[in-house]
This record gives sequence, structure tokens and C-alpha cells, in this order.
Amino acid sequence: MEDIFILRDDQRSILDTVARFVEDEVRPRAAELDANQDPEKSYSWEIVEKAHELGIRTMTLAEKWGGLGADSLTTAMVIEELGKGDLGVSVIMAQTLKIAQIMQKALNEEQQARVLPGFADDPRGMLAIGITEPDNASNYFLPYPTQFRTSARKTTGGWIVNGMKHFISNGNRASYYLLFVQTEKEKPMVEGTTCFLVERGRPGFTIGRVHDKMGERLANNAELIFQDCFIPDNNVIGKVGSGFGVLVEFFPQSNAYAGASVLGVAVALYEKAVAWAKVRVQGGKPLIEHDGIRAQLAEMRMLIDASRSYIHRACWLADHQEHHWDKTLGALPKAMASQAAWKIATWCLEIHGGHGYMKEFGVEKLVRDAAAFLHSDGVNRTLFLKAANFMFPA
Ligand SMILES: Cc1cc2nc3c(=O)[nH]c(=O)nc-3n(C[C@H](O)[C@H](O)[C@H](O)COP(=O)(O)OP(=O)(O)OC[C@H]3O[C@@H](n4cnc5c(N)ncnc54)[C@H](O)[C@@H]3O)c2cc1C
Repeated sequence: MEDIFILRDDQRSILDTVARFVEDEVRPRAAELDANQDPEKSYSWEIVEKAHELGIRTMTLAEKWGGLGADSLTTAMVIEELGKGDLGVSVIMAQTLKIAQIMQKALNEEQQARVLPGFADDPRGMLAIGITEPDNASNYFLPYPTQFRTSARKTTGGWIVNGMKHFISNGNRASYYLLFVQTEKEKPMVEGTTCFLVERGRPGFTIGRVHDKMGERLANNAELIFQDCFIPDNNVIGKVGSGFGVLVEFFPQSNAYAGASVLGVAVALYEKAVAWAKVRVQGGKPLIEHDGIRAQLAEMRMLIDASRSYIHRACWLADHQEHHWDKTLGALPKAMASQAAWKIATWCLEIHGGHGYMKEFGVEKLVRDAAAFLHSDGVNRTLFLKAANFMFPA
């Protein structure tokens, strides 16, 4: 059996490519893009196109679709590596890599043949998933017996969709969307939701506001608005009414990928703290020679290592569910990594003293980024509750 603690040669070579991409393309641009007031200007198609050229954008596609067929463990490693350079870049890629993985499993043959070649060839091909609504977030994570507001009524050959999603990563950039819609109004969302494949530019589908975010600014998040939007029957993914089945069956590693993105930020913060501790002298010696600082750096390292092991185990088991996949692994690794990143952010600030508060040192951006995943991909408290519900079913 594969040893997940030993880096394979193919993983090493992919990670080298990604590390070079981060060093050459992401790091030099990140601070300037982040500082734009207009969220749309913080987005860089150049970075996406470069990721396409290097095969990063499509690496979860099977070889027959032009990708590398990367497994979930390798993908998490790549997502973390991207996160070390910039959280937003990591997120836009993570969404795309994850949804490409899902599409290969959840789309039928006709849908795959219709969508995947174009996605593979398009240097700007991005993917998005629309579930969250202004009134529904923890509601669907737990889930509660409520309904999505975004709903559809049956018509000849398809469905007429009305409603709105918000906070959607890549919302204004994607070429394809997985959209979760209430198709049976009298049923709770778990039983009455259908997952649709939606192409950008479909009549009746427009992009609303692009959200102005505190951090993770190199990713765009937007509202998706549906006004009498016709979606044909052949865009239903799986069966009508089985949208939650798609979520449960095809998204096991989603939470771990989110954890990997923010773990990258934790690593960047840790490295900054170490670098500063080596050069800043107080009390006649560098900070790193003071016991309190040394101990804190070791604690940061422990939080990073433990979060990474958790993420890697979740990813490997998501691909090998026969070896006792445990549903809490679909809820908790992100909560752990984001809590670790948040602690490390405050400690990195503290080690920098007043310098950390000055924008020029770059800690401030990382602190804003580290906050992003306390809530994204499910609010942590909600995810703890979700895990508890698996552990202690009512
Ligand atoms: C940067 C970012 C990117 C995102 N990208 C996407 C995306 O691509 N696609 C998508 O569909 N969504 C996306 N989301 C939505 C995300 O997944 C979250 O679900 C959403 O942000 C939760 O926010 P909310 O304000 O609606 O929280 P709410 O669900 O309103 O929760 C508010 C608070 O109430 C608590 N709470 C709720 N229920 C309970 C309970 N039963 N008991 C105790 N406490 C409870 C929560 O834990 C939380 O503290 C994104 C969000 C962000 C911030």
C-alpha cells in the first residue's frame, strides 16, 4: 500500500513546478494586486494563464482530457504550495481543480464530452460552485429542513430557474458552474434540491455584485442572479432531487482542500516570523535566541505539521474510502488548519512587534488572509456541529 508520508517522485516534480510558479509569477504580483481598492482589479488573468501553461490549472483532469490525473493528496499539496504565495490564487485554483475532479465523476458521458475538452483548452477556464444564498449557509451544511430560495419550475425540455446565490468564489470569472436549486418546493432541501450544470452567458443568468473582501483579495467572489433562466434537462447532474447526493458523494475532499489553502498562509506567516526572529535584536541578541520566542516558533511548527497530517489523511482516505473513510474528515481538517493559521497569524504579529502592524512588512496582508477560512467552506462552529451530528446521530 502507498505510504502517504513519503513524497513520490511525481509529486516532487509537480511541487517543484508549482513552487517556481509561485516564486516567479505569484509572489512578485501579490502585494500590489491585493492593494487595489476595486476587487475586480485584484484579479489577475495573467496568473491564471501562466498556471494553464504549466499544466497546474488542469492537473486534476484525467490524461484523456489533457490533464495529469492528480489524486486528492497531490492536489492538496499543490493547493498548500499555492497558498504559501497567495491565498486568493490558491482558492481560485483549488475551486477549479476540485470541480474538475467532481465533473469527471458526476457528469454523464454526454455532459463530459460537451464540457471538458473546452475547459481543458481554455487558458482562462475557471469553475465555480453556487450553493450559498443570503438566507442559506449553515442551513445546508448541517443541514436543516429548510428550502433554498433559488428554485426552478418544470417546463418543456427543462427548468426555469429564479433566485440568487452569493459569496461565490470565481463567481464572476467561471465558464461553468455547478448550481444547487430547489426543484421540489414542498420538500426540505436535502430531498428537493437538484444540481445543474450552468454555462456562463446562459440567457437569464447574470453576475451581480463582486464582493469587496477583507482578505483573499486575489480571488473574486460574486453574486449569481437567475431571472427566468432556462436550463435544459440535459444539464441536470445526476437525478432530479438528488443534489445533496452529489454533494455527499463527490465532495469528500473539499474541506481538506480549503484547509490546505489556509495552511499555505500559516506556513508563510511562520516563515516570516522565523526570518524576523533571526534579524531583530533585542536584549543584546536576536529574538530567536530568546527562549519564549523559540518555544512559540516550535508551537507554530507543531500546529502546521498536525494540520498538514490531518489534511493529507483526509485526502488520501477520500480517494480510498474503503479504508474506513470517516465523515468527520469531511468537516474538521479545515477547522483545524484555519484555527492554527489564525493563532499563527496573531503570534507572527506579536513577534514582529510594531513592525508587523506596518503594511510594508507584509504581515498585515497575511493576517487578513488567515481570517478568510474561519468562515469559508462552512463556519468552523457549524462544521464542529456537523461533525458532532455524525459522531452522535440523533
Ligand atoms: C471567502 C468566501 C468564499 C466562499 N465561497 C463560496 C463558494 O464558492 N460557494 C458557495 O456556495 N459558498 C461560498 N461561501 C459561503 C461559505 O461556504 C459559508 O457557508 C458562509 O460564508 C457562511 O456565512 P454566513 O454568514 O451565511 O453564516 P451563517 O450560516 O449565517 O452563520 C452565522 C453564525 O451562526 C452560527 N450558527 C449557525 N447555525 C448554528 C447552530 N445551529 N448552532 C450554533 N451556531 C450556529 C455559525 O456557526 C456562525 O457563527 C464563501 C464564503 C466566503 C467568506
